[in-house]
Amino acid sequence: MKRRDVIRGLGLGAAAAAATACGRGADQTGPTADRRTFEWRLVTTWPANFPALGTGAIEFAHRVEACSGGRLKIRVYGDGELVPAFEVFDSVAGGTAQMGHGAAYYWKGKVPAASFFSAIPFGLTAQEMNAWLYFGGGWELWKEAYAPFGLVPLPSGSSGCQMGGWFRKEIRSMADLKGLKMRIPALGGEVLARAGGTPVTMPGAEIFTSLESGAIDATEWIGPYNDLAFGLQKAAKYYYYPGWHEPGSTLEMIINREAFESLPEDLREIVTACAAATNDRMLAEFTARNAEALQTLVRDDGVLLRPFPGEVMRELRRLTGEVLAEAAAGDPLFRRVLESLDAFRQRMIPYTDIAERAYLNSRS
Ligand code: CA
Repeated sequence: MKRRDVIRGLGLGAAAAAATACGRGADQTGPTADRRTFEWRLVTTWPANFPALGTGAIEFAHRVEACSGGRLKIRVYGDGELVPAFEVFDSVAGGTAQMGHGAAYYWKGKVPAASFFSAIPFGLTAQEMNAWLYFGGGWELWKEAYAPFGLVPLPSGSSGCQMGGWFRKEIRSMADLKGLKMRIPALGGEVLARAGGTPVTMPGAEIFTSLESGAIDATEWIGPYNDLAFGLQKAAKYYYYPGWHEPGSTLEMIINREAFESLPEDLREIVTACAAATNDRMLAEFTARNAEALQTLVRDDGVLLRPFPGEVMRELRRLTGEVLAEAAAGDPLFRRVLESLDAFRQRMIPYTDIAERAYLNSRS
């Protein structure tokens, strides 16, 4: 009997084949034995190359290509280059692109609970959001929320605490919010509506023209770094803080599940790790650049910085409670995510109070 027949008879064919493969060299064994290459499209909700957001998506693509030795190449598209900003979710779910970068609250019309995975008014800071997503069950709920659409979400960036926005007139009391037409997305917009204002949603690229022409009275966008890039200081002079509606907005990388599962295990791990790296780096970039840009806005552009009056903040917080309770009553998943985030927030507050808050109060 030939050796090959003995092996087949013993059912050891696969083991022998694996042993032979091992003999060819370590680079052809294990997960990296799969040398297929992939070319993916990544659509974003940001203008192409937009500071921190668009450039962060591009850095992510470069990092994946480098880590994978060129086996996974990702081409990044800005808003409108392949699909418009607000079609990113559907185009990744439908497979037009394999990945998308944006903010989860843009999709609250399809998934009411999505807002929680970017930011909710009076919610968590960026540091607390990461704690909830990675160690508080938030990411698991996020995966569950996107599963019916065949999408896998990864936390992939954070703006940190945003600014309250640009206003053409001063906000002295709640009465000044009545009739105010403001670009403000998601739950923040619903709170504004409850305060008597008119929230408007539009992609970043349309904001400047709308504010300058007076089509809207106010807008929030992100923070000093990105707001300066859009030139919003030329369209309104009052710049309010803090960003009560977005205290620490997480950005997302969404992946078409079928495409993700078609990747070898090591490439899936590379995509996941590179998204986590982007999550860290983008927050660091925003923090550094926002501080520089704020200086420029105040010193060179004469922007008038204003805190929202205490009465306005208290009332917006009360209205936020109403908006959240109402939404939770109408959607079981929204209620579950709210309960998770709320419980986490209640645990975090006493700790953050004696850690970051106590330190910050003592620093200056
Ligand atoms: Ca914003």
